[in-house]
Amino acid sequence: MLEKIIIVEDEADIARILERRLAYEGYHVEVFYEGEPALERIYDDPPALVLLDLTLPDIDGLIITKELRAADVQVPTLMLTARDAIPDRITGLDVGADDYMTKPFNTDELMAHVRALLRRSAPEESQDAYKFADLILNPASRLASRGERVINLTAKEYDLLEFFMRHPNQVLTRDQIFDQIWGYDFGGESNIIEVYIRYLRSKLEADGEARLIDTVRGVGYVLRQ
Ligand code: CA
Repeated sequence: MLEKIIIVEDEADIARILERRLAYEGYHVEVFYEGEPALERIYDDPPALVLLDLTLPDIDGLIITKELRAADVQVPTLMLTARDAIPDRITGLDVGADDYMTKPFNTDELMAHVRALLRRSAPEESQDAYKFADLILNPASRLASRGERVINLTAKEYDLLEFFMRHPNQVLTRDQIFDQIWGYDFGGESNIIEVYIRYLRSKLEADGEARLIDTVRGVGYVLRQ
């Protein structure tokens, strides 16, 4: 039996399709049709992953994600949204969702997202902190710091920053970043890298510190002084 996955989805047909596919793949699956009971269950017994519908009868997926992050529950969340609007997607990521898919989705593609999220959140071997300039990234605590200032990172932000810290002064292309952080082809039009770079910069430079992640126009990004 693989990890436990909680599905929070009020549309019974979609919940059933997800449940069958995940169970078939060997995951232990629990389905909730409303947000509040799901949230209680996640607090009581955190699963490896939550598939979270945006619109639910009681509290919506954004509120659930916000509450989990506020309570410092580091369960990866994959937001499902029927709305195809970019602002909604960005909002989901802003509140700490790790990934999103728009409905209708292809279940094979969804499984690729699920595996990527589970792989990225798997416990890592203990190792020393990464250091670059005044920036320190600690793999054990998954916290960053600049000088005395401690910086909280979401799962995806951590993964992205760790990728840069492992390759300082090396230009990383958008394709390399997609492959490494999302583990599948996200599609050329996606602005998800730009979104996450913006999040990282706003956190790393919150006290007016020097920029460390530079844009290399038309290519990608580089960690450098
Ligand atoms: Ca819904």
